[in-house]
Formats: sequence, C-alpha cells, structure tokens
Amino acid sequence: MSAAMTGRCLCGRVTVTATPDREALIACHCAMCRRWTSGMLMTLQCREGTVRFDGPAKTLASSDFAERGFCGECGSALWYRMTRPGANWYVAAGLFDTGAMPVGMEVFIDRKPQGYALAGERRTFTEAECMAASGLQGEA
Ligand SMILES: [Zn+2]
Ligand SMILES: [Zn+2]
Repeated sequence: MSAAMTGRCLCGRVTVTATPDREALIACHCAMCRRWTSGMLMTLQCREGTVRFDGPAKTLASSDFAERGFCGECGSALWYRMTRPGANWYVAAGLFDTGAMPVGMEVFIDRKPQGYALAGERRTFTEAECMAASGLQGEA
C-alpha cells in the first residue's frame, strides 16, 4: 500500500483523501466510462475504508451493481465502485497530482476506440476477462 494522497475536484468543493493499493493507474476503455468522461477513465484502486470524500458529492446508480460519484457543483468524476459490501473504490486519478505514476493496467481493452492507444506495455483485460474476474455481466 502506498501513502495517503489528497486531491480535489475541478471547482474545489469536493476534497478527497485516499490510499491507493498500488502507485499505478488503471485505465478503463468501456463505453460507459467514455460517455461519462469523454475518454478513458483513469483511476486508482483503493480498499474500502481508505477513501474519504468531503463536500457536495452525488452518486449515480449506473447499473444494478455499480455506482459512480461526481461533484454536484462542477460535475467532475470522483469514483466508480460496485455497491456490494467491501468492494474496492476506483477513485478518479485526475483528482490528484499523480506525477510520473505509470499506467499499470488497461481494462475493457477490446472496447477502446481505434483512434488512440497508450504507449508502453502493461496487463490488459478484455470485457469478457473483466466480467469473468468480477462474476458480473456487462458494463457498469
Ligand atoms: Zn466540484
Ligand atoms: Zn469503464
């Protein structure tokens, strides 16, 4: 586990303190993340109990089993998580100064638009592989 990081949304009304499991970004290329952010969603994986948001955060139930948090003032993406107890938080990496932190994983790689790609090598997972790992079906 790495050190606690502090961050904020675009307008600054939502602040966050979180302790990522690894100092590496996760990029999600699914259509829902793309619709939400206009690009890939970059997150830091954090265990429940290691994330604290303060301010006017709102939650959208984006599927039967997942939610997405956003700032109620400026709309910044804040987090994605499955709603089952103990599920990890995927906190939006753009809230923090992530410096030279590498991208450690790309998920829904088979949903990535063809017009762009991240440089370098890392673990990738297709939609089917993501679903098999989570025991769920479909984007969320
Ligand atoms: Zn905001
Ligand atoms: Zn996604």
